Amino acid sequence: MVKETKLYETLGVSPDATEAQLKKAYKTGALKYHPDKNANNPAAEQKFKEISHAYEILSDSQKRAIYDQYGEAGLEGGAGAGGGMAAEDLFAQFFGGGGFGGGLGGMFGGMNQQRAPAKAKTIHHTHHVSLEDIYRGKISKLALQRSILCPKCEGRGGKEGAVKRCAGCDGQGTKIMMRQMGPMIQRFQTVCPDCNGEGEVIKEKDRCKQCNGKKTVVDRKVLHVHVDRGVKSGTKVEFRGEGDQAPGILPGDVVFVIEQKPHPRFTRQEDDLLYKCEIDLVTALAGGTIYIEHLDERWLSVDIQPGEAIAPNSVKMIRGQGMPSYRHHDYGNMYIQFSVRFPEKNWTQDPAAFEALRKYLPAPAVVNVPPQDAMTEPAELEDVEGNGAGRGFSNSPMEEDDEPQAERVQCASQ
Ligand SMILES: [Zn+2]
Ligand SMILES: [Zn+2]
Repeated sequence: MVKETKLYETLGVSPDATEAQLKKAYKTGALKYHPDKNANNPAAEQKFKEISHAYEILSDSQKRAIYDQYGEAGLEGGAGAGGGMAAEDLFAQFFGGGGFGGGLGGMFGGMNQQRAPAKAKTIHHTHHVSLEDIYRGKISKLALQRSILCPKCEGRGGKEGAVKRCAGCDGQGTKIMMRQMGPMIQRFQTVCPDCNGEGEVIKEKDRCKQCNGKKTVVDRKVLHVHVDRGVKSGTKVEFRGEGDQAPGILPGDVVFVIEQKPHPRFTRQEDDLLYKCEIDLVTALAGGTIYIEHLDERWLSVDIQPGEAIAPNSVKMIRGQGMPSYRHHDYGNMYIQFSVRFPEKNWTQDPAAFEALRKYLPAPAVVNVPPQDAMTEPAELEDVEGNGAGRGFSNSPMEEDDEPQAERVQCASQ
């Protein structure tokens, strides 16, 4: 009846296929062999072009009539064999443009990425780094497990030619099943049991011994992650194409997110370091030296001048002792917030000590004195258990900080 069947065979339909059947056959084939899904696979690309060519002719009723009567030769010179529309354009037209990105959104589920060729999923990993390492910079060697194409069978799963399209589902991986539900027949899609959804089968004896037909094997890869000096938490270090490999798609990426671990002494604020320091009242008033252990095994010795009168919660700064600023050569500052430790109750009974304090400390300011004619009533101070904590008094601002990891550090002083 028809002169040639080649174009029909290319699409996998019979010569009396309806328009809808042609459409469906093209759609299935074009999605399967689209170059975006078959990187570095010239055979698939060729197949994609052939399918597109066949559909372009057979979907046009005039061309189809010519082809049926005279074969491909009849179309030569017209808008036939060589001339027609590029396969990609036809694909875009059919699916509403945008290649595998826009119009097709969701069609490939997890494999679908914005306009990029299909690619294995990115491996994300958080790399926890100490503040010391960020201060000094380092290179971390991190090992990761990934899937790579089986080196023995080159990702085929078996001997060359051993991989056969599954007959049970015609390579689709899924099957439409019918089920009688009372008077209704329900159609539903199910994973093909013959190939477990793979769309292809390999005979037991032809299966690759190394990957057991899975096409990929697990591989251990060591990556060198540069932790640059002063790098900020949340910075991403990317390794393109070093992630999982799978047949027919691009290898995935590996992304490390650098995350600073909490530090027992310092809190980082951009390029500055915040440090909490408790000193004794006598140091606050009469001076002394405190020592601060830095992030690179140096110790800073800081003189508190006599008379500096460090007030509780006051903040001082040491210039240039903060973090190195990322990719620059300067440093942030170190801010020190002081708390002042008072002597214990009854620290002395020596009246001379109190006399001396009265003599040397500024006289108390006279505040909140009752008017002359007011009645005054003597009242006594008593100690409160737990220093009154939990009675609704807010503590000093520095105690309010919610930093479970930052333990209070006592400044060494002399
Ligand atoms: Zn193998
Ligand atoms: Zn199957």
